Amino acid sequence: MFADNSNQNETTPSKTSNIINAVLDKIKRRSSSTPRSQIRNTSQVSNVSTPNKSSYLALLNSKSETSPQSSPRSPDASTRSNSPRSTTDIATPFYRKIIDQKSSNVLFDAQPRKTQRSKTPTTRSYSTQALDSSITLKSRERDRTLPVVSSSKLGRTGLVNLGNTCFMNACIQCLSNLSELRDAFESKSYDGQLASSFSLLIRRLWSGADTFEPKQFKTAVSKWAPQFSGYRQQDSQEFLRFLLDGLHEETNRIKKKVPYVELKDIKDESDLHKSDRWWRNYKERNDSIITDLFAGQLKSTLKCGMCGNVSTSFDPFMDVSLPIPSISNDQSFRHYYSPYKDNHKSFELSECFEKFSENELLIGHEQVYCSKCQKHQSTTKELRLFRLPKILVVHLKRFSNTDKLLNEVKFPLVGLDTCDYLDKSAHSINKNTKYNLTGVIKHMGGVGGGHYTATCMHCDTNEWLDFNDSIVKRSSEMSTKGPSTYVLFYSMQ
Ligand SMILES: [Zn+2]
Repeated sequence: MFADNSNQNETTPSKTSNIINAVLDKIKRRSSSTPRSQIRNTSQVSNVSTPNKSSYLALLNSKSETSPQSSPRSPDASTRSNSPRSTTDIATPFYRKIIDQKSSNVLFDAQPRKTQRSKTPTTRSYSTQALDSSITLKSRERDRTLPVVSSSKLGRTGLVNLGNTCFMNACIQCLSNLSELRDAFESKSYDGQLASSFSLLIRRLWSGADTFEPKQFKTAVSKWAPQFSGYRQQDSQEFLRFLLDGLHEETNRIKKKVPYVELKDIKDESDLHKSDRWWRNYKERNDSIITDLFAGQLKSTLKCGMCGNVSTSFDPFMDVSLPIPSISNDQSFRHYYSPYKDNHKSFELSECFEKFSENELLIGHEQVYCSKCQKHQSTTKELRLFRLPKILVVHLKRFSNTDKLLNEVKFPLVGLDTCDYLDKSAHSINKNTKYNLTGVIKHMGGVGGGHYTATCMHCDTNEWLDFNDSIVKRSSEMSTKGPSTYVLFYSMQ
């Protein structure tokens, strides 16, 4: 998020002092301004509760939805994503030399720079530290201008398959082509092992190399989430959830979390007020580049089938899992129409969203405790998007038990409008409800096997690329379609 195009007016002064002054000046400007994402969040936030990691994961594992983030996308962001970075700001040989020296341990050093900083806590001035991050940014600009690395190769680095790691590679390429996420991890060092290795990985992917072996990252992932250690085939969407969760924890700006307090209902409180209270409660404990981009809020309404008592909750989410309508919740329906029978029928994404928003009947062991009846009762549950995220991750539930649905789901590349799936009282906090596709994770093959690839829009040039482990090819938007589409990445317009 710090990689602004403001670098581009760099000239080529002949005197060292001019260069340094210019850089320092820029750093001052940069450091004095609050990051866009923070401004956005504090202005709009209300509350939600995510008590701790385990309950958050439990939430993620439940039927998830999308909630809105009200702030419109900044013009700066949209400009960036639509225009390739300029490569005209070629530095003087002398300036380039400084960058070269710096970059050798900034850009490609596996050790996070924080190690260097902590060794010299008092003698190193703030400006000098900031200079490092500035240099990191300039390094990439430099990479684009030097003949050794053709700018046309940036963002086209394949990821070597380390042994059934295509689920990870496909996921990484989709994340790497989200410009704000890329910029955040490329321009800044983080303390945690997962975040720092992800940062290194992103820098490698944007270094112009043909391929990269994400071994260090794989090790960090295995430590964070041991179920991803080893070399078995895994679910790419499940991996994405754990990765985002881990990156969030390690980049959380809230270092000392206030103890979680369960929010009590307030009599006659409006949905808007309540959602705001829950959102603020969530953001007081969770505030990172990950939540800036991916966190939304979902309204869940439970209605007791016996007494009609209604209760609402406003939980955060990082992705939405949409059912494909060929699977019915109705057991008798399922009995007559096995999922495979409908495999050739195609659906619209809107139908999946509608299915997601339908009332769900919770009976039997799914009954919910009613505070009015003071016992478990059959209950209807309704989910609505309430606060939209900047990046909307849509997961298609293709896998059920031992089956995989092969239906094609048709979706818009540009202008997906989530307006119809928003709660009716949430429109005022979601001015922008439209999204454009930035990438998809695809899965070929059946349950427990198969192969993952990604098709992504290069976030600087807007061309479509197919990422198949170490092979990267030019592609077209048509490549995003078909029965293998599994996870969709949408960016708010
Ligand atoms: Zn009741």
